[in-house]
Amino acid sequence: MRDPERSFSVFNPATGQTVAEVPDAGPAEIDRAIAAAHRTFGDWSGTTAYRRAELLRDAYALMMERKEALAKVMTEEQGKPLKAARNEVQYAADFFLWYAEEARRIYGSTIPAPRADQRFIVAHQPVGVVGAITPWNYPSSMITRKVAPALAAGCTVVVKPAEQTPLSAIEIFKILDEVGVPNGVANLITTSDPIPVGEAFTTDPRIQKITFTGSTEVGRVLGAAAGRSLKRVSMELGGHAPFVVFPDADPVHAAKGASLVKFLNTGQACISPNRMYVHRSIVEEFTSVLADRVEKLVAGNGLMEGVSVGPLVDEPSVAKVERQVADAVGKGADLVTGGRRLLEGGLDRGFFFAPTVLAGVGEGMEIYREETFGPVAPIVPFDDEDSVLKAANDTRYGLAAYVYTNDLSTAVRMFEGLRFGIIGINDINPTAAAAPFGGMGDSGLGREGGQEGIAEYLETKLGGFSIR
Ligand code: NAP
Repeated sequence: MRDPERSFSVFNPATGQTVAEVPDAGPAEIDRAIAAAHRTFGDWSGTTAYRRAELLRDAYALMMERKEALAKVMTEEQGKPLKAARNEVQYAADFFLWYAEEARRIYGSTIPAPRADQRFIVAHQPVGVVGAITPWNYPSSMITRKVAPALAAGCTVVVKPAEQTPLSAIEIFKILDEVGVPNGVANLITTSDPIPVGEAFTTDPRIQKITFTGSTEVGRVLGAAAGRSLKRVSMELGGHAPFVVFPDADPVHAAKGASLVKFLNTGQACISPNRMYVHRSIVEEFTSVLADRVEKLVAGNGLMEGVSVGPLVDEPSVAKVERQVADAVGKGADLVTGGRRLLEGGLDRGFFFAPTVLAGVGEGMEIYREETFGPVAPIVPFDDEDSVLKAANDTRYGLAAYVYTNDLSTAVRMFEGLRFGIIGINDINPTAAAAPFGGMGDSGLGREGGQEGIAEYLETKLGGFSIR
């Protein structure tokens, strides 16, 4: 029997220090959480959309009130600089507001029927109890992007956040409790062992849907298990984003965009560019501007003023980046800047890698195919549109892609030709609570955010009425 007092430690990846101890749930607690969500589903799904909307709006307001405190908790457990943490808290809260509005717009429809005595009515109803598993890189928004639409739709939820970042999750669930979301409707399980949670979410008959954000490898395992019990599944998985700069684009502007999006969250984002295709005629200028900007980035503890890049999440992440850089350089890439662990000034206590630019990257290198999840910008020169489109699409992933061009026809052709779920055209932040986020291929199934995001939590029901 598991000790109910058992806990695990949460570490600050910038300092290695313990930030907090949190309860370490086992099968008994998982079962209790699912039972609570199952027990409360009837009442919650019967609560008016107006009331659900009100609670979600209140959750938004309380998150805004606590923005600074929530950002600090996030920086401590995850490492991103405070400014980026504030932005994430805002983005996370936006899902509560957006889905508060959407809750009241779960419309049905009527359809003309083939028989004169027949009427068709289509209604949308909540799918039931939802099991959600989230990653550490965006500790708040990956939770609200699931919980807000689920609650808005009338579902009850059980959430398991990543082991590294349970503190932001705990704060969000406190907020849901404080604004009056009824006990048992939104349930949190913090645990150091994800396996029993995955097993329960994919096999327990009380759960109707599993929604997962994380690596493609784990997504595949959970998706296969959920398939056996025919549960509904949403998957937001890994990515390997191309970032294409055409010769008509301003290389300085494009390099600025590249430096901002690549080093966001120290490169630990599923939409982080992993292959920067730059036209050969401007590749030198692009590389030099990017390197200048990258050299000005300041790595350190995200709580300190002036820090622009935080640590990686753990030692294996640093080792992976180091391995990919060594592999690329060994196969002929040019190390323009960075390329090493950062150890000086106390950084050896955390997991720091220097913001890095690699030029002359090519197909045979690991970094060209494998998700890096670290602060490395790999530049690949290209010569023409057809070949760059083909190369950009030559990946098993299909989450985000970026294009810089001032030519409308090129922009339209690339938008239409790229097999990715999110395309930024001269735009490095094509995301918002109101917009559908998600990928093709190995990047996942389904969409989060926008109108599509709530549809993932709704069943469609057809009523055929025969009248006299
Ligand atoms: P991960 O290792 O797949 O972990 C994600 C979550 O799954 C964590 O809560 C983890 O728990 C849990 N987990 C791991 N193995 C499990 C299992 N066998 N059964 C049930 N749950 C399990 O991914 P990560 O390293 O945290 O996150 C990085 C990945 O997420 C990257 O590939 C990134 O691209 C992707 N991501 C995608 C999106 C998107 O929207 N598409 C957004 C953010 C991140 P523990 O923490 O306890 O291991």
